[in-house]
Amino acid sequence: MQKVLITGAAGFLGSHLCDRFIKEGFRVIGMDNLITGDLKNIEHLFKLQNFEFYHHDVTKFVHIPGDLDYILHFASPASPIDYLKIPIQTLKVGSLGTHNLLGLAKEKKARILIASTSEVYGDPLVHPQNEDYYGNVNTIGPRGVYDEAKRFQESITMAYHTYHGLETRIVRIFNTYGPRMRLNDGRVVPAFIGQALRGEDLTVFGDGSQTRSFCYVDDLVEGVYKLLFSDYIYPINIGNPDEITIKEFAEEIIKLTNTTQKIIYKELPINDPLQRQPDISKARKILNWEAKIKRTEGMSKTLEYFKKFSKEELARSEH
Ligand code: NAD
Ligand code: UDP
Repeated sequence: MQKVLITGAAGFLGSHLCDRFIKEGFRVIGMDNLITGDLKNIEHLFKLQNFEFYHHDVTKFVHIPGDLDYILHFASPASPIDYLKIPIQTLKVGSLGTHNLLGLAKEKKARILIASTSEVYGDPLVHPQNEDYYGNVNTIGPRGVYDEAKRFQESITMAYHTYHGLETRIVRIFNTYGPRMRLNDGRVVPAFIGQALRGEDLTVFGDGSQTRSFCYVDDLVEGVYKLLFSDYIYPINIGNPDEITIKEFAEEIIKLTNTTQKIIYKELPINDPLQRQPDISKARKILNWEAKIKRTEGMSKTLEYFKKFSKEELARSEH
């Protein structure tokens, strides 16, 4: 049985990846320090023989006994309010954490896939963003701690490939949403749904003309799975190109949740990218992958998940 280590396993994407690899018949080792994750996301896996969990901070030396075939490095705060709250840990998990996992991959002769992000393009001057664009990042801006950690992560991963012959894969993930996002992680999907369910007005930052392109988690997991088992070693965008302004998105959520709340406007965070849409030509051609789940379907599933929270839990998630 092949063995895969998934870091960030108790988080949103990591937990869905654990489910997928278990389903595909792998032995899965989940690792997480729970800084932004929640064991509830993987508690259903604890009873399985093929699943093991290590409560561990990957910025510290990582040891796994026995063989290891694959590593998926997804540990990192991912929401702007998280990485603004814990900036040094964010830099460390992208740099020291990635270094430790590359070292582990080298020792075990394992293939490693690292989770990069559309944030490596910063506030992009090219639209839609393709993988050849070098990006427009403010290194010392508030988002720099995340963006530069991820840029370093890509560089060190490529260096391990070039200088040590390590088998590496790099996925640039664009805004992904779905069940198991943290209600209070501040990202726009849980923020708007939480507000709608609490009966509050929806807070649009800036004038809401900035755009994002939202990908449902199942599509993302499929793209990551295909990339891991492909031969492609360069960064590849995985996202849904269906672009929407944040104002229109707020209106969609008001409609979906049937609320009578309105939109209120708040200050746009510094360096908030004005437009974002993945060019997925490479993923289409190389992986034969594209997002299949439309926003209406994905958002309905996501809403069903958040509706299960009690009034008290919803109230606690307010910030
Ligand atoms: P998340 O916050 O839900 O999950 C991240 C997990 O990593 C959490 O469980 C957290 O506790 C864990 N973690 C953080 N630092 C750690 C450390 N030092 N040691 C061990 N565990 C640690 O975020 P997510 O949305 O699931 O994102 C997962 C990965 O995907 C991140 O690397 C993120 O940068 C990347 N990504 C996500 C998106 C998205 O839209 N969700 C977009 C681009 C990139
Ligand atoms: N946003 C918003 N209201 C909120 C939360 C976010 O208008 O309550 C905006 C945010 O300014 C950004 C977009 O929604 O333009 C997506 O934000 P998110 O934090 O989800 O991800 P980002 O793509 O910025 O990393």
